[in-house]
Amino acid sequence: MKNKVVIIGTGNVGLSYAYALINQPSYVNELVLIDINQKRAIGEAMDLNHGMPFGPNHILIKAGDYEDCQNADIVCICAGANQEVGETRLDLINKNCVVFAEVIRQVMEHGFKGIFLVATNPVDIMTFYTWQLSGLAHNRVIGSGTTLDTARLRYELGQATGISPKNIHAYVIGEHGDSEFVPWSSVIAGAQPITDFLANDQLTTIEERVRTAAYHIINAKGNTSYGIGMCLVKITNAILNDQNLILSVSCYDKINNLYLGMPAIINREGIKQKIKLTLTSSEENKLTNSIKTLKNAINSTK
Ligand code: NAD
Repeated sequence: MKNKVVIIGTGNVGLSYAYALINQPSYVNELVLIDINQKRAIGEAMDLNHGMPFGPNHILIKAGDYEDCQNADIVCICAGANQEVGETRLDLINKNCVVFAEVIRQVMEHGFKGIFLVATNPVDIMTFYTWQLSGLAHNRVIGSGTTLDTARLRYELGQATGISPKNIHAYVIGEHGDSEFVPWSSVIAGAQPITDFLANDQLTTIEERVRTAAYHIINAKGNTSYGIGMCLVKITNAILNDQNLILSVSCYDKINNLYLGMPAIINREGIKQKIKLTLTSSEENKLTNSIKTLKNAINSTK
C-alpha cells in the first residue's frame, strides 16, 4: 500500500504536521509538499529528509505539484491566511475561500480519489466548501474540527485532576471557534463523572481557557502550530491504519447542511460514523447557537 500524503500549504501548520509525521511512528510511506512558494517547499523537503536517519520512519519526502494528488490517499490542506492578533477564525473566511477555489480545482482536475483533510480556518466552513467544490462523498472530506480544542481540554483536565489526559473522555463540540462548547454531562475520567473530581466553577474556567487558547498563543508567538500538527498526525494514522478511532473532527451534518465538530469514528473510509451524544437542554441550546453561527458565516460568504 502506498499510503501517500500530500500537504498543500507548507507554513507553520503544514510543517508542524510534516515534522510530527517524521518524528512519531506513522503509516505514511510518501509525503509530498506543495506550496505557492515552491522554493520554500523544496527547502522544507530537503530539511525534513535530513532528519529522517534519526527518526522512526522511512518516508519518501519531496516537493511536488498537483499531479501528485492523482494517487494520494490523503490531501491535507493547510494553505491560506492565519489569524492576526485580534482576528477571529471567521474573519479569514473570504480570503481563504479564494485560496480554496483554486486549490480544490487543481487537486480534482488531477483525478484525486482519496480523502481530504482540512486544517485551514475557519475549518468548518473551509471543509464544507471543500466538500461542495470537490464533489466527493461527505465521509471522504474531513476537517480537523475541534480535535485541537479537545486535546487542549484533556490537557487542562489532566492538569486539574492529576489524572492522565489519556484516561479522560471529553470532547469540545460545535464550531472550531468562539461558539464551541464542552458537553460536560458526558465527560468522564476513567468511568467516573468529571464532577466527582472538579467543581463547576473549575469546569467553567477550564472551558474558557480552552476557548480562548488560540488568542493567547497568537498574542504571544504569532501563530499556533504544534498542537494542530499532532492532531493531524492522529487523524492521518486513524485513516491509513484503519483504526476506528473516535476523534472530534469536522463532519457533515445533513439536517443543517454544514460541517461542524462532533466525535466520529475515523477509519480507512474517512468518517465511518458519528457518535451520538446525549445532551442536556442547556447543551442543546449551545449546539443550536453554534450551528446558527456557522450558518450565518456560510450565508455571509462572498
Ligand atoms: P502560514 O502563513 O504559515 O502558511 C500558509 C501557507 O499557505 C504559506 O506557506 C503560503 O505560501 C501557502 N499558500 C497560500 N496560498 C496558497 C495557494 N493558493 N496554494 C498553495 N499554498 C498556498 O499559515 P499557518 O500558520 O500555517 O496557518 C495555516 C492555516 O491553518 C490558517 O488558516 C490557520 O488559521 C489554520 N490553523 C488551523 C488550526 C486548526 O485547529 N484547524 C490551528 C492552527 C492554524
